[in-house]
Amino acid sequence: MDVYLDYNASTPVAAPVLEAMMPWFKANYANPGSQHSMGRAARAAVRDARDTLADLLGSGPTELIFTSGATEANNLALRGLAPEIFRDRPRIVTFQSEHASVLEPLRRMADEGIKVDVLPVDRNGLIDLARLHEVLGADVALVSAMLVNNETGVIQPIAELAELAHGCGALLHSDATQAVGRLPLNLAALGVDLATMSGHKIYGPKGVGALYARRGVPLRPIAHGGGQERGLRSGTENVPGIVGFAAAAGYAIADLDAEVRRVRGLRRRLLDELLEIGGVEPIAGGIDADDSVQSPWTLNVHFNGADAEAVIVNAPNLALSAGSACSSGVPEPSHVLLAMLGDPAAAAECVRISFGRPTTESDIAAAAETLRHSVAYVRART
Ligand code: PMP
Repeated sequence: MDVYLDYNASTPVAAPVLEAMMPWFKANYANPGSQHSMGRAARAAVRDARDTLADLLGSGPTELIFTSGATEANNLALRGLAPEIFRDRPRIVTFQSEHASVLEPLRRMADEGIKVDVLPVDRNGLIDLARLHEVLGADVALVSAMLVNNETGVIQPIAELAELAHGCGALLHSDATQAVGRLPLNLAALGVDLATMSGHKIYGPKGVGALYARRGVPLRPIAHGGGQERGLRSGTENVPGIVGFAAAAGYAIADLDAEVRRVRGLRRRLLDELLEIGGVEPIAGGIDADDSVQSPWTLNVHFNGADAEAVIVNAPNLALSAGSACSSGVPEPSHVLLAMLGDPAAAAECVRISFGRPTTESDIAAAAETLRHSVAYVRART
């Protein structure tokens, strides 16, 4: 049996989530825009899902816009900002370790004349707040910084960033895809203006996500059509997906504190076992990285002298990731690790191990054993 340790790439759909979704595929497949009773019931299901999700995340229901996932939510947060904002404030500030679905739309916006500053992160993957302070001014419209990094699990101080951004009149967007359902989170308390999330990272289906846009943030649609989602995201609502997304958030957030403690223990155990191999170093924050800067759900390790792709190929019963799975197929060292380590050879020797609710002690034991053999084998051949 394969041991799946790639939950940052995607998670299984939890049984109660699938159960909640099924009626909206089979018994009631109506368009929520329709006026008949089936349409009204579908509309009510979307409304209930929105209310549930808003309650769980600390937002108002009208502050959530359902999308096809985090990629679209990030694009809407950035490309959808009202053009008037940029008249007096032509700049956006972001960071080298952001996801491609933030960096790529920003690259297009830079081509169109917006000034985009991509600031470095330090060796531990953290933003330099003093540097950000220097760069921030009255010409900045938006700061975009992810909450938890998908490759390293590094947690950025988003509440502080929000204060800094607001201090100069800028908005703060945070890609919270790897944080929602994995760490305690209240969007209003966090102080962000825009936040991105996705269903398939929290035991929900692929193809559904949401953008949180605080009331008053001036957004425009990036695709035009029937005017669903208060005109911001046209297209027939993905009723089963939206129902599943809300059910998944409930599933992921239940007993979250206990789950976080359990997974922190599993991560520590695996790291201790891997360190015994020798020539192994955790990426980001070192061995004793503070819980406030390191998500327990991710362990990225550098196996000195062992190519990560080769380590993974020689660990055939483990589902792991070298760099980011979202852009894999392209055997290039990850831009996140490059930004942190500054060394393509070291970046190509890093393996991402990510944990989920189904991860057990015996998964950890199997992963440690297989990786010990695989790393030794790859090193011997190098
Ligand atoms: N942002 C982050 C931080 C992610 O981890 C991912 C998925 N790898 C995305 C955005 C894109 O998510 P989706 O698959 O829902 O488009």
